[in-house]
Amino acid sequence: MNKAPTCSACDTTMLAGFVPDKFDATGSAGQLSWHPGKVEEKRLLGLKTGGVRYDKNSAKAITAYRCPGCGLILHFAH
Ligand SMILES: [Zn+2]
Repeated sequence: MNKAPTCSACDTTMLAGFVPDKFDATGSAGQLSWHPGKVEEKRLLGLKTGGVRYDKNSAKAITAYRCPGCGLILHFAH
């Protein structure tokens, strides 16, 4: 989205940001993403890994717009 959206609740211009996700032991974070399809457990040699199947080529990074007026957040996955 080239232009920041206007809040549907209070008509204020929203600020672009992102939602950190997938923190690792060093404190580094990834970016929240959208993935098509249903959640499927990831398995290795038949055992659950604790994660879900994930195709990074199908995922779309999510941009989060936050309204500084009322706090409403909108997510877009382009
Ligand atoms: Zn608002």
